[in-house]
Amino acid sequence: MTTDFLIVGAGYAGSVCARVLADAGKTVHLIDKRPHIGGNAYDERDAHGVLIHPYGPHIFHTNAKKVIEFLSRFTTWRFYEHRVLAQVGEQLLPIPINRTTINQLYGLSLSEDEVQGYLETVREPRDPLQTSEDVVLNSVGRDLCDKFFRGYTRKQWGLDLSQLSAGVAARIPTRSNDDDRYFADTYQFMPADGYTAMFERMLDHPGITVRTGVDFKDVRGDFPGSHILYTGPIDAYFDHCYGPLPYRSLRFDHQHLPDTEHYQPVGTVNYPNDHDYTRITEFKHLTGEQHPGTSIVREFPQAEGDPYYPVPRPENEALFKRYAALAEAAQGVTFVGRLAQYRYYNMDQIVAAALKTAQDLLDGSPAAAA
Ligand SMILES: Cc1cc2nc3c(=O)[nH]c(=O)nc-3n(C[C@H](O)[C@H](O)[C@H](O)COP(=O)(O)OP(=O)(O)OC[C@H]3O[C@@H](n4cnc5c(N)ncnc54)[C@H](O)[C@@H]3O)c2cc1C
Repeated sequence: MTTDFLIVGAGYAGSVCARVLADAGKTVHLIDKRPHIGGNAYDERDAHGVLIHPYGPHIFHTNAKKVIEFLSRFTTWRFYEHRVLAQVGEQLLPIPINRTTINQLYGLSLSEDEVQGYLETVREPRDPLQTSEDVVLNSVGRDLCDKFFRGYTRKQWGLDLSQLSAGVAARIPTRSNDDDRYFADTYQFMPADGYTAMFERMLDHPGITVRTGVDFKDVRGDFPGSHILYTGPIDAYFDHCYGPLPYRSLRFDHQHLPDTEHYQPVGTVNYPNDHDYTRITEFKHLTGEQHPGTSIVREFPQAEGDPYYPVPRPENEALFKRYAALAEAAQGVTFVGRLAQYRYYNMDQIVAAALKTAQDLLDGSPAAAA
């Protein structure tokens, strides 16, 4: 088949690249082995007509103006600031930890300054910050660590906090004010008609051919002369020649509750200490939809299954680096996306990376031509 680019994966990485390349006059053949576009951000209506995220809740947030500007070509937005509560004992408390969390948990009435002073008295200074346990103890001390983070981490990763790289916990802020938003980014919106509708508009271009239900391994040799843009797992591209890169997976247990306007007060409730699931998300909070019933999802972390979260441990990073060296030496193929880069990236980070990759390819930069 003749096409300028074969793109593997119709998530953000593949779809954004496809659109930028097609806008520049290139022909693009985009495949995905799943039966739909959108990658993990794909959304659909469940049997009861409620818009849900089959691969787990996706909330859009970014500080990058160019990312929101690019996506705004394909969607309008609904303002939405995500809020998360954690069930600790009988209480539902804001997470990230803020002034309300500390005051309600301990029955205190500290001011903002006093919260900072309080954290100073309970934190356990650590230097260097090597593990996630170091990061959390250094910031909030042992009791808050054990109540909010240790159990959640064990469920999420199957590892103790002390076995995880510092970077995982470094993503979680602590606030001394009452700001209870989960994210602090400048732009916090949900696509007004959902993610799939946004992807459909992005890929609606005469230069783009989309085929779903097609695995790269079955068509690998069918595109001689086309440049490959690969957004699948990097170890799979190289036939796992150094062994598989470890991932943590999830099982999603979706449920519809008829005649229930709302199941819970906010979009997500975390369960750090109880149950086998880590959290419950109620989609109507995210989408703002009206419906007499409501749909929720419970997330059960597990070792086997689709690759969701790269396991951030030094030996896995070392293994990835060996694959990255192969990728750098490979001719006629460019790697981009969370699976190709073996990193947890938010959607906006992948959009930014894809915009750059596509532009580099158009500019013929040596890095992109690798
Ligand atoms: C549970 C969960 C919740 C998340 N929530 C958020 C959130 O709230 N906010 C946020 O910003 N980010 C969130 N993310 C991150 C977000 O999902 C990613 O940033 C985004 O999906 C990355 O896009 P991508 O194109 O790199 O990967 P993907 O979306 O995974 O797309 C890659 C595509 O490649 C396809 N593919 C792989 N191998 C092949 C093959 N051999 N042949 C053909 N196709 C192939 C896959 O089927 C897939 O569709 C979340 C991630 C998870 C796991």
